Amino acid sequence: KNFQSVALVAGVTGIIGNSLAEILPLSDTPGGPWKVYGVARRPRPSWSLDHPVQYIQCDVLNADDARAKLSPLTDITHIFWVTWANRPSEAECIQVNDAMFLNVLNAVVPNAPNLTHICLQTGHKHYIGPFESLGKIKPHETPFVEDVPRLPVPNFYYSLEDILFETCKKKQGLTWSVHRAAVIFGFSPYSMMNVIGTICVYAAMCKHEKVPFKFPGTKAAWNCYSVASDADLIAEHQIWAAVDPYAKNEAFNCTNGDLFKWRQLWKVLAEEFELEYVEVDENEEFVSMSEWMKDKGPVTTCWFADVIFSGECMLDSMNKSKEHGFLGFRNTTKSVISVIDKMRAHKIVP
Ligand code: NAD
Repeated sequence: KNFQSVALVAGVTGIIGNSLAEILPLSDTPGGPWKVYGVARRPRPSWSLDHPVQYIQCDVLNADDARAKLSPLTDITHIFWVTWANRPSEAECIQVNDAMFLNVLNAVVPNAPNLTHICLQTGHKHYIGPFESLGKIKPHETPFVEDVPRLPVPNFYYSLEDILFETCKKKQGLTWSVHRAAVIFGFSPYSMMNVIGTICVYAAMCKHEKVPFKFPGTKAAWNCYSVASDADLIAEHQIWAAVDPYAKNEAFNCTNGDLFKWRQLWKVLAEEFELEYVEVDENEEFVSMSEWMKDKGPVTTCWFADVIFSGECMLDSMNKSKEHGFLGFRNTTKSVISVIDKMRAHKIVP
């Protein structure tokens, strides 16, 4: 087959990587037909077997493994950076995420003469600071817009951006784009941060234990406006930036384009799981998801849900994407339902 573009998706089993693996190979995807190499650390999971992707099991934190497995891929035209590693401190996060990115770039850039574009996935922490600084530094004013100065704290997103800019500066014709998401609603059971997955597990446990399906968050998070990013929409946004000349060398916010409130979405979730909808009791102290789960064994990761359910009004603007020609959007309620349906179809949640 004659491919027009060749993607390297770094983090192909992650929440965005899985959407890229589904969408890139479709016959009507811009820039196609696409050949897709998908990299992840673990063996290929059964739920990704249907995607027409050349799966490469590789630990990109290991420079030798990255070089051995990725330098022979001389036909790569686009890199989609949708992976990350978490560490206890931001200094360590910077160290490992830089190393992962550099290991892949060092293996690919000198060996892939047709490499033309690199998409870097980051998120709203660009505007509010890393997890360890939340509540300690003044975040940017909302709605977040792309072209504000960086916050005066170390952030692995900034560090990855700097590596990206340097790499593209050194190679003629190589362009970049940065994609900043809010909380992502997507399918992957391998994701370190899949809040809908966590809610599904919580709902199943509430049902099993016959306890009320309470919102495990703050009153402020319950009542305020929120935004989210559908994983398929992010994949479309990245593919747009990868092929459209108006999107080159720019950072863009990437969210659904509508607003929601958890208090409204909770009603939809309660209906989905056939649980009774309960309002947040304004007089009651809330119990966080990790507090609630602490004696339930290692069923799901909750720390990210705790962060999301205590945030307040983290809104951004999609004007820049629209002005540059990206008009994609998602209805957040429908996005949530389709993610849950898919997890059920794969028997990941009941
Ligand atoms: P994820 O946890 O869903 O997926 C990570 C992927 O990278 C997996 O495929 C995993 O196998 C792979 N991976 C991890 N370490 C690896 C290694 N050493 N070698 C090879 N593969 C490895 O990640 P994500 O949530 O899509 O995160 C991507 C970016 O998006 C991060 O910067 C994250 O902060 C940002 N982001 C995520 C969310 C969210 O809700 N998940 C929200 C906003 C921003």
